[in-house]
Amino acid sequence: MNRSDQDIRRVGKAGDDLIEAERFAALLAGYSEKMDRMEMFDPEVIALLKEHRVWKAVHGDNGQEATLTHQCRWIEALAARCTSTAVFVQSQLTVGHTILLSNSPLAGHLLNEMREGTIWGWGLTEAEAGSDILSMKTSARKEGDEFVISGNKRFISNAGIATRYLVFARTSPERSSKSISAFVVPSDTPGLAIARYEHKMGLRASPTGDVVLDDVRVPSASLVGEIGEGVGLALSTLRWSRPLIGAVSVGVARGAFEHLIKVVGPTDRELRVLTSKHQARGHKLADLLMQVFAARTLLYDVTTRADRNGELPPMWEASSVKAFCSDVAMKVANEALEVAGREAVGVDAPLQRYYRDAKILQIFEGTNQIQKNAIMKELDLVNFAVK
Ligand SMILES: Cc1cc2nc3c(=O)[nH]c(=O)nc-3n(C[C@H](O)[C@H](O)[C@H](O)COP(=O)(O)OP(=O)(O)OC[C@H]3O[C@@H](n4cnc5c(N)ncnc54)[C@H](O)[C@@H]3O)c2cc1C
Repeated sequence: MNRSDQDIRRVGKAGDDLIEAERFAALLAGYSEKMDRMEMFDPEVIALLKEHRVWKAVHGDNGQEATLTHQCRWIEALAARCTSTAVFVQSQLTVGHTILLSNSPLAGHLLNEMREGTIWGWGLTEAEAGSDILSMKTSARKEGDEFVISGNKRFISNAGIATRYLVFARTSPERSSKSISAFVVPSDTPGLAIARYEHKMGLRASPTGDVVLDDVRVPSASLVGEIGEGVGLALSTLRWSRPLIGAVSVGVARGAFEHLIKVVGPTDRELRVLTSKHQARGHKLADLLMQVFAARTLLYDVTTRADRNGELPPMWEASSVKAFCSDVAMKVANEALEVAGREAVGVDAPLQRYYRDAKILQIFEGTNQIQKNAIMKELDLVNFAVK
């Protein structure tokens, strides 16, 4: 087989998978508006995800981990139709990555369980510890062969539907990056409760809640990684999960753009009339398309290089992707509403949902101000000559 034959096969396989991703995502269009209105993640969607190849495609299969690019392509396709579903999968993959990085003896078992369908939540944030994770108050103290965990986690995605949480807790009182550790806590452990759910402007179908831990006892083997490794694991995971949010954002930007085209030019003829007779509006469409294209190109430039090198992207690249793509999602969704006008503002109109969802993408997984702090700290690592 010569080189070009190999390339064609590889591209062909990826292409099939992407067509499948789009086909699966199209099924979500029937759920997204209803779930958003009802503020509920439909268990049917979870069942669909698990039955379909999407679950194995994103979690890895046959002993092979999925690449970052592959995960992003699936997440982009999901987000273009239903942001909450994409975030459900993204939260799951974020935990998966921490477990993978931890080299913990439990890792293989936990990842297999995840591939088989276990749902996870990632428990880092607290009322006083969002951007500043070292302000965390949740504590874990060792008692014999157990850890006893107490504290309140806030804004936890997949709350209530997860059967496992990855909980970050203080194992030492001083304010240091070595004072926090990560634990696996099953949702049915006595002392763990979901105290309340957030009612949000966007991502309304994605359940976000307070996970309260009241003297929750877990075996010592529930420690993920080493004692004091929690912050290091969380920061390394962000180098993977921020591009995943970039993919959600590209999906939202793309979905909003595609809906806009349906609203302003439902037929080819109407689209032609619009672009030939109303040039100012046509230019707006061209501007928005350039934004989506730039965000998508940045995302996959970063992920394909990371996959090729077998390394996590540097933080400045991961943060650039997260901040740039979520800003583009917000801009495209906002301007799409303006161009579509009254057609876009009804409670069932998809465009207003993209707009509400996009705002949250600028806030979570580290606000876009925090992304700039991260980029700023690595200015000395930037070397375009070798890219
Ligand atoms: C829908 C949703 C889902 C979420 N899911 C999860 C989850 O599954 N697990 C989890 O652990 N967390 C989750 N979060 C929490 C999320 O990661 C935090 O909201 C985020 O990190 C920001 O923290 P904060 O809200 O406490 O903002 P704050 O830290 O209070 O920040 C408030 C403002 O101050 C700015 N600011 C703060 N510090 C600085 C600084 N040093 N420099 C410049 N500006 C600064 C921020 O940019 C922001 O504008 C979720 C949040 C949302 C909204």
